[in-house]
Amino acid sequence: MTDIAFIGLGIMGSPMAVHLANAGHRVTGYNRTGSKTAPLVAAGGRAAGSIAEAVGGAEVICVMVPDSPDVEEVLTGAKGVFDSAAPGALVIDFSSIRPDVAVELAKQAADQGFRLLDAPVSGGEAGAVQAALSIMVGGAAADFAAARPILDVVGKTVVHVGPSGSGQTVKAANQLIVAANIQALAEAVVFLEAYGVDTAAALRVLGGGLAGSAVLEQKQDKMVSRAFAPGFRIDLHHKDMGIVTAAAREAGVVVPLGALVAQLMAAAKANGDGGLDHSALLRGVLRLSGRADEED
Ligand code: NAP
Repeated sequence: MTDIAFIGLGIMGSPMAVHLANAGHRVTGYNRTGSKTAPLVAAGGRAAGSIAEAVGGAEVICVMVPDSPDVEEVLTGAKGVFDSAAPGALVIDFSSIRPDVAVELAKQAADQGFRLLDAPVSGGEAGAVQAALSIMVGGAAADFAAARPILDVVGKTVVHVGPSGSGQTVKAANQLIVAANIQALAEAVVFLEAYGVDTAAALRVLGGGLAGSAVLEQKQDKMVSRAFAPGFRIDLHHKDMGIVTAAAREAGVVVPLGALVAQLMAAAKANGDGGLDHSALLRGVLRLSGRADEED
């Protein structure tokens, strides 16, 4: 039994916090919009009214917020985690953020007597709900070992990939692969529909061959039925494509396909689809194909 604070109870954080409470840990949740603490409270957790209240007395502090500035605010802001937590606390940042920011935050954490792991996840909302996430962890080996029992509650594939920032670098690669996959699937669906093929039958047989993927499994129904409630918002994937294209440039490598999909993701956002699931890249393919009337 560990005293855990969980900050950020959105699409991913909420089911993760609930799993930790169900596993018998004492979980106190904080969310900017208070009503989102309800599932955690129903699972036996507690709701806190501030970050300071949530982290007071916590041995482990989990964070799951959208972007680099959000994590910086939660950790280093006035009355944030570093201001309020007990020295020695282990901070696990599950958010997907810039690798360089993760490195800098880990330094600040160490200077102030905390241990920080970057532990971004993959597997989508389904992975969070089913406690089957892939978790790519950057940080000290001893801190990873200490976090492992917590990580195993929410994850199925939990891997220490290197020092601080490495988890975020691996997550950026993950987002490149996923975006390219989704775009290819969206193009295939529009192509199949244009020929009037039985799309469900086509996707079933494609799923059994080399074209099969977790993306095809999780996203085909959303595309075919145009059900684009998130899931993973285009806004967040746009953020991640910015991270991977900037990090690739920094490393001196080129990601031409990544750059193209980053532009298509940006176009989706510019066309007002930022709040939709990333499977809504399909709508962009329809627009480019002169079939915008088939978007809904
Ligand atoms: P989400 O549903 O938007 O949840 C984000 C949560 O963070 C919300 O509860 C939000 O509070 C809170 N928040 C936002 N800014 C904050 C701030 N400055 N201070 C304190 N709290 C703040 O997003 P999500 O889909 O769970 O994604 C969270 C992270 O996981 C992102 O980095 C994303 O890239 C990553 N991720 C998501 C998925 C997925 O499939 N959704 C998969 C893998 C990784 P409010 O309720 O007040 O808005």
